[in-house]
This record gives sequence, C-alpha cells and structure tokens, in this order.
Amino acid sequence: MTEQLWGLKLSVELISTEPATGAELWRGPHGDVDREVALARAAWGEWAARPLTVRIETMRRFANAVRARAEQFADLIARETGKPLWEARSEVESVVAKVDISIGAYAERTPQRRLEGAMGARNAVRHKPHGVLAVLGPFNFPAHLPNGHIVPAMIAGNAVVFKPSEKTPATGACLVELYHEAGVPEGVVRLLIGGPEEGRRLAGHPGTDGLLFTGSARTGMALHRQYAETPHKILALELGGNNPIIAWDVTDMPAAAAVIVQSAFQTSGQRCTAARRLIVEDGKHQPLVEEICRLIDRLIIAEPHSQPAPFMGPLIDKDAADRVQEAFLDLMLKGGRPIKHMDRPQPDLPFLTPGLIDVTSVAERPDAEIFGPVLQLIRVPDFDSALAEANATRFGLAASLIGGSPQRYDRFWANIRAGVINWNRPTTGAPSNAPFGGVGLSGNHRPSAYYAADYCAYPVVSSETDQVRAAIGVGLRDA
Ligand code: NAD
Repeated sequence: MTEQLWGLKLSVELISTEPATGAELWRGPHGDVDREVALARAAWGEWAARPLTVRIETMRRFANAVRARAEQFADLIARETGKPLWEARSEVESVVAKVDISIGAYAERTPQRRLEGAMGARNAVRHKPHGVLAVLGPFNFPAHLPNGHIVPAMIAGNAVVFKPSEKTPATGACLVELYHEAGVPEGVVRLLIGGPEEGRRLAGHPGTDGLLFTGSARTGMALHRQYAETPHKILALELGGNNPIIAWDVTDMPAAAAVIVQSAFQTSGQRCTAARRLIVEDGKHQPLVEEICRLIDRLIIAEPHSQPAPFMGPLIDKDAADRVQEAFLDLMLKGGRPIKHMDRPQPDLPFLTPGLIDVTSVAERPDAEIFGPVLQLIRVPDFDSALAEANATRFGLAASLIGGSPQRYDRFWANIRAGVINWNRPTTGAPSNAPFGGVGLSGNHRPSAYYAADYCAYPVVSSETDQVRAAIGVGLRDA
C-alpha cells in the first residue's frame, strides 16, 4: 500500500509490537495483492502436476525445518502474541504435527477409488486441487491455524497466498520462510503483508479460486457477503463462539474449577473455544464459585518469558484490552454483579486479570464473543433451563458439561448445538486429528483440522475404458 502525499509516494509500513512490553518487534511494507496472486497463479500448475509423493516429501522437510528452529519460532510467537513461552512451544509442536495428520487425512478423506462400471468400464474417483487459494489468519494462533489450512492445501496441489493478521506479521513471515527453506517453490506459497484492506482485496481477487479463513464472525460474514457473487469459489469459514459450560452435580470442586479456569482464561481468553458462560444450579453453586475465585487469585499473569512461568500473558494490544474492559463495564451497567473484578494493573499495557460476573439478572444478555478473560455466570433452577441457556446463542462452536452422570451427559450431547461437545474436559484444546468446526455463526459447515482435506480439493468422477465400445440398442430404424 502506498500513500500519495504532495506528489511523494510514501510506503506505509506495518509495525508489530510486543504486547507485553510495547517494544517494536518487526516492521515491513504492505504487500502487493496483484503481484502475489500472479506469482502464485504462475506456480500452481507445475506444483499440482508434481507427484503426490513429492509434495508429501516437501511437507515432511518443512516439519523438519520447523523442528530445527522450534525454540526460535516459539520465542517469536511468544513475543508477538504475548502468550507464555510454554504455550508458544506447544503451538510450534502443533505446526509440526499438522504435517503427518494432513498426510493421513488426505489419504483417508480424498483417496483415489476405483468402482465397477457398465460394459466393462472402470469408474474412477479422484480429487483435483482448486488452484490458488487465499488464506487469512487470525492473531491468536498465528502459526498453527494458518498452517492448518496451508499444509493440506499444498498437499492437495494448490498454491496459496497467505495474509497473516496485521497483529502477527513476523510469525507469518517466519512460517512462509520455513516453507521455502524446506523446498516449497517460492511461487507456491506467497506471503502478503497487510490488514483488512489487503484481506478484502485478496478475498475478492479474480485470480484466486477460493478462501480459507479463520477469524471473527464479523469478518466471516463480510467475506460471505463478498463471496455472494462467486458461488463457484470455495469458501471455508472458521469463526468464533459464545461457548457455554454447564457445571452440574459437581463433586470434585478443585478439579471442576481447574477445568473451568483453563477453559475461560487460558491464552487470556483469546481462544475461539474459550468458555464465555458458566451455567450453574442456583443455590448449589457457591462452593464451586468460591473454588474458582481461589484459583483465579493464584494465577500468574506476566510477560511470556518470566519465571515462574505465567498462566497467561497480556491481550494482543491495548485496543483489545480496552474493548474487553468496556464489555465488562457494559455487563455491569446492564445489571451484572461482578464476583471477580477485572483489573488492568498497568494502564499503558494490555494485561487484564480474569473477570467473573454474575449476569443472571441481566435481562438482555448480549450474544457476543467477548474475546478476553471474562466469564459470565448464569444461575438456573433446573437442567432443562441450563440446556436452554447454553443454546441461547447464535454461535455453536464448543460446549462442555462438568459433573453429572453418563445419562446426563447423553442428554447434554443430544441437546447441545455445537461442533465440539465435551464432558469433564475444557471447551478448549480440541484434538488436531479430528474435524474441527462449529454450527450457527461459528462457521459455514466446512470444518477444518482433519476435514481440511475436504475443502482443499474437489472430487472428479471418470468413466474410463481403453477402447471405444458402444452400440445404440433401441430407437433406431433398420439400416
Ligand atoms: P479478525 O476477523 O479480526 O481477522 C482475521 C483476519 O481477517 C486477519 O488477517 C485480518 O486482517 C483479516 N480481516 C479483517 N477484516 C477483514 C475484512 N473485512 N475482509 C478481509 N479480511 C479481513 O480476527 P482476529 O481478531 O485476528 O482473530 C480472533 C477471532 O478469530 C475470534 O473471533 C476467534 O474466535 C476467531 N478464531 C476462530 C477460530 C476457529 O477455528 N473457529 C480459531 C481462532 C480464532
């Protein structure tokens, strides 16, 4: 992107700062959408024509390249997102693990099959890549989530133009560097630096054949509207949630509190699967709430590399922290009763302490994803009301039941509308070797993770014989 000023062409740079300190981490010019799409377009045909084994081998080399630089990569992710180093390390492990998972998924989800055909013909089912796919990434898992689209897309034979979040360009640039280092041709995966404007232009670019998106529901809806004119292009949307946890008949309070705190506050609540609403039986909830408060008081909230290791770091930036504080205040103004106040110990940095607020008496609760460490408590009289509360959302990503019996879990599972439904486990941390996606505003029914293979290629059926053999049996006059 360039700006015209008194006849001078100024290149506007994108700057990434460390949320924990405010220090500048990276800067670089905005990318050129047309150029990156053209380079990918020029490269994809040759990549698609390479044998699958060669593409798979290249991905394995990529996994090794990441392993070789794992610590450096984790350090960068921790600095750029503010998440604790231990968590950034596990993100890097997920990047490596994605390669084998995607190779298995490609073989299982999009295999080549032979079927018996008429008159001795063979019918074959094979899959073809779409061409050039745009990938737009979020800031919260800036390596793992885009990689979860890019690796399956490249295995299937697509070229990719990847625009990382404007909040995590350094991680995006490092990821693309590692693909190239592993031998992915430069044109097959292109880095596009930029923000929403570049995202919009890339999504609508006639040189792309589809878009694989992970981000907020608001952006997802805008992209869906943008795609209305191009129904022939693939659009995969992985969006947010307003995820419930029901705690019922809990016997082990410390364990339940640990699962709830982990669900709500890990990554400072900046996970799509983070629990936003805790639904409890009115009158019996107090011991659990007290246990949760005790645990919150013990959480270490500090910069990513500090010792002892923190549970959580800052939010991604000051604007994000302002928005979350405003949302908490708004709940209070609507009648919410804070049980744990959310504090901002340093006003000029985006660290927030976890907030717990009883919103039972709030008449019209906003059905929004508050992307930060805020948990809303809702008290209900019976389990039917708990289920109704849990489903009172336009989203449908993740939900957990804590406590209860197998029969209660069966009812929970049957009645909850979500793509991830857990029992006695956090709402967060879905397994990567399984499909991942949600219903409602959480996506467009194109689950990712193990099912990413499905949206990276389209099936082609072919009826084939090596000789022409045909006769018209009915409807002909005598010769
Ligand atoms: P975001 O929607 O603000 O941005 C995501 C990407 O889209 C960025 O690269 C951004 O530059 C780009 N973008 C923003 N506006 C755009 C527009 N109008 N047109 C085109 N591109 C645009 O999301 P975020 O704040 O980076 O990430 C947090 C959100 O992502 C949360 O809502 C979270 O729940 C969601 N998320 C979902 C999943 C999932 O798998 N379902 C995983 C992680 C995060």
